Amino acid sequence: MPTSKKTSKPGKKTAARKVAVARKGSPAAKKFPVKARGSRKEKPVKAAAQKLQTLKAAGPAAVESRVKASVPEPKTGEDAYRPEIIEPKWQKAWEAAGLYRSVVDRSRKKYYALTMLPYSSGDLHIGHWYAMTPSDARARFMRMRGWNVMFPIGFDAFGLPAENAAIKRGIHPKTWTYSNIDHMRGQLREMGSMWDWSREAVSCDPEYYRWTQWFFIQLFNHGLAYKKMSPVDWCPNCNTTLAREQVWGDDRHCERCETPVVKKNLEQWFFRLTRYAEELLDFSGIDWPERVRTLQTNWIGRSEGARVVFGTEAGGELEVFTTRPDTLWGVTFMVLAPEHPLVETLTTPDRKAEVDAYVKQALRQSDIQRESADKDKTGVFTGGFAVNPVNGVRIPVWIADYVLITYGTGAIMAVPAHDQRDFDFALKYGLPILPVIDRTDGLTKSFALAKTMQPGLADALRAEQIPFEERDGSLYITIPPAKVERYIGIAMHHLQPGCWNEIVGTRWKFVFEDGVADWDSIDSEQEILARCQELEPNVRDKRSLMEMLWALEFYRDALFHDQNGVMIHSGEFSGTPGSITVKKVAEWLARQGKGGPAVSYRLRDWLISRQRFWGAPIPMIRCPVHGQVPVPEDQLPVLLPDDVAWKPTGESPLKLHPTWARTTCPVCGGPAERETDTMDTFMCSSWYHLRYLSPKNDRAAFDPAEYDYWLPVDCYTGGIEHATMHLIYTRFFHKACRDMGITRGPEPMLQLRNQGIILGEDSEKMSKSRGNVIAPDELVKKYGADTVRAYLMFFARWDQGAPWSSTGIEGTRRWLNRVWGLAAQPPKAASAPAGEHAARDLVRCMHQTIRRVTRDFEHFEFNTIVSALMEFTNTLYKHRETSLYASPEWEQAVDALLILTAPVATHLTEELWRRRKGPAAESIHLQRWPEFDPALAAEEQITVVVQVNGRLRERLQLPAGTGKDEACSIALRSEAVRKWLEGKEPRQVIFVPDKLINLVI
Ligand SMILES: [Zn+2]
Ligand SMILES: [Zn+2]
Repeated sequence: MPTSKKTSKPGKKTAARKVAVARKGSPAAKKFPVKARGSRKEKPVKAAAQKLQTLKAAGPAAVESRVKASVPEPKTGEDAYRPEIIEPKWQKAWEAAGLYRSVVDRSRKKYYALTMLPYSSGDLHIGHWYAMTPSDARARFMRMRGWNVMFPIGFDAFGLPAENAAIKRGIHPKTWTYSNIDHMRGQLREMGSMWDWSREAVSCDPEYYRWTQWFFIQLFNHGLAYKKMSPVDWCPNCNTTLAREQVWGDDRHCERCETPVVKKNLEQWFFRLTRYAEELLDFSGIDWPERVRTLQTNWIGRSEGARVVFGTEAGGELEVFTTRPDTLWGVTFMVLAPEHPLVETLTTPDRKAEVDAYVKQALRQSDIQRESADKDKTGVFTGGFAVNPVNGVRIPVWIADYVLITYGTGAIMAVPAHDQRDFDFALKYGLPILPVIDRTDGLTKSFALAKTMQPGLADALRAEQIPFEERDGSLYITIPPAKVERYIGIAMHHLQPGCWNEIVGTRWKFVFEDGVADWDSIDSEQEILARCQELEPNVRDKRSLMEMLWALEFYRDALFHDQNGVMIHSGEFSGTPGSITVKKVAEWLARQGKGGPAVSYRLRDWLISRQRFWGAPIPMIRCPVHGQVPVPEDQLPVLLPDDVAWKPTGESPLKLHPTWARTTCPVCGGPAERETDTMDTFMCSSWYHLRYLSPKNDRAAFDPAEYDYWLPVDCYTGGIEHATMHLIYTRFFHKACRDMGITRGPEPMLQLRNQGIILGEDSEKMSKSRGNVIAPDELVKKYGADTVRAYLMFFARWDQGAPWSSTGIEGTRRWLNRVWGLAAQPPKAASAPAGEHAARDLVRCMHQTIRRVTRDFEHFEFNTIVSALMEFTNTLYKHRETSLYASPEWEQAVDALLILTAPVATHLTEELWRRRKGPAAESIHLQRWPEFDPALAAEEQITVVVQVNGRLRERLQLPAGTGKDEACSIALRSEAVRKWLEGKEPRQVIFVPDKLINLVI
């Protein structure tokens, strides 16, 4: 490996070695080729180091801030830490030596570490650094632990921003993208990461998208890709489809001309993602964060229930999925998505104008807006009716925008008595509400309005122990479940002529003069409501019984519930207990041929079509005779044309190109047309981990021998924002390829870990408009890449993130200065006696640090890795000016510090290692990770005597340095001590560290 002039001055080094040997007379000192001259102005750090030891207990932050106060910056000059010199030097040297090339080696265990590939935006921001450098450090750790590690990088290079830049500045997206990639390569190299550049893959390279297209054809050939009509956002003014990010504002207008967008149906390509819905819910065998598994599970949205087929009076069937087939008898209306194909058939001529207007406004809104919980639910009646398959009841059919055509069947049966959204809707539009599931809490109420009941009712209730409240002559009665029948008797007995009394909750009964009416069907509701309105003019404006009852605040908690329970008002099913209702009704529907048990998923098929230029062309040809025919594989890639005109129409230039789409049918040779849609970029990123295996392979998407060795990915790192789309798509892609015989095994990535987000220094999200963006390039210039790496690992829990701190990074730089000083600059004097246990203490600290750092790397706890290394640095400084300096223990400890720090500060440790070991030495990044010895790491055990009232009662073996609280609590647990305490709490505790505890009672 070539080294620069700076480190190859053998003459000087030999001299330095002689000085060291002469001074120390220790054989180990020979390993320490530092120059004799250096920073002599450094103050002795002994006192400071002692203080630091006491600070250790206060945690890493305290240690780190103390470093700032106690240690001067190393002197500038030849021996100063100069990242601007050593960092580019080592980056070049590593690349030249191929230090990070990963090759198949069957004699070694492999480790595929993958970090999410960046989008080719042209600028690597601090978030990239935060995602990538700890991932890099961990990959390095695995490598030093003996794994054959692959850590590749590439670019996700297709997408809309390139096209926007083209329209704005007239640059071809290709030119724009490749110049961005060039710039980003430089930025990535500056990180000092172990990228294997020989494996780089760029998704917009024809040799890459050739295989993206090949995968598309395999999916098509296996029935996993298909074309169907689907809505897109459309600007009627620009006459073009819009991407999601081109639709702005709550009113959803076109970003270019501000015209409100509409939805338009286009034929588009889909992948059959839903075929894998069930399998995607199975996370067994992979170590993915709980949060991601939950997000994916919710996204897939599995629910069990039944399919129900309703007839309609206009002819045609209306199919719905429901999780509550047990509530079918309570269906009082149905709701279709405005886009539902039956809307036209069902709408009666008198309702047409209103329905059309409603459909038009609904189409302008996004699905998210339409489903929003706080949005006021609106809808209109179509004039049409469906027929309930369980009882033949006529059910009015409405349309409402809160029902989405993309979800389920685009139609719902509304059971307002047991679904909150349906309840609100029914109340708003005066639709009937019929309870069909009994309450499980027994809540039953009755309200006796003043003067509707005879005097004596209150006494009768008291006699029966039925509780009530009396206000202004009216009684508010809450009836115990066991007394409901008794209450009905009392109510009938006390009813005034021309009045009624009702019971709600577990019963739905109206007591009239001539008897009790049951509210148990939509018909009976109409009769009861008519009678009440006849008797009481005040309720004549009520459109339903529920609306009438809801007006009374006292009733409200008894009127609605959405629990499972015993079926009521449901014909022969009434009385069926809640535990079996769903299954029983679903099976009955199946027997009747009106549906049956079913599972539904929220997950939709993957819409892969983009009406855009800068993407992989979908490799399909449409023949008037043969329909959709794939491009023959030997004709791939279907190249994007270079000669395109950029018109600000937003329409794909592929569509406007005069000749590109014209071709011949591969089957019959007749004139045919190419597909002009390109693929969603998530398709490119679904398989990039495979292309890294052999990015230059022109015979296959990847080399099978590489696949056999490297796959599956052992550790995948990246942002939680990809929990649903990318991370579901890539799992689907792998499973589909497995079923097509292309890949193997159930999952592509065994372990997943997500980083958190770095906020601006003001604790707000970083954004240009806030002016709180941290630019990594400037930090590298100011502090060096190693400091940025170390700080990003240190300043927050990696999986949580935190606000940036510009003072914090200064502390990290000071720590690296100290590591530099420790290894590159000799102490002023090293003659102070080392102390009895100094060597043992240093060795113990080293093994403890190895243990901590090893464990924390295994658990992705990067912040505590850096704090452990800072503490270890402090311990070394404590012994630096003593006779321990340059002893075998000292040298071993400094080596260990450098090796443990190597994954974090890649350049600094390499520089120091070569200085220590000589120019011919092997890179520090090829060194074996040190093993810790549990015996040497163990704290020394010390005998502490325990006295009770001054008399010796127990001897405890405790780790040296055990604090008062810890020592006391151990003493108080001791049987021998407890016997003498006689159950009393000590009044006073005298504690002499490492010697004695005296408990005074
Ligand atoms: Zn427009
Ligand atoms: Zn043909």
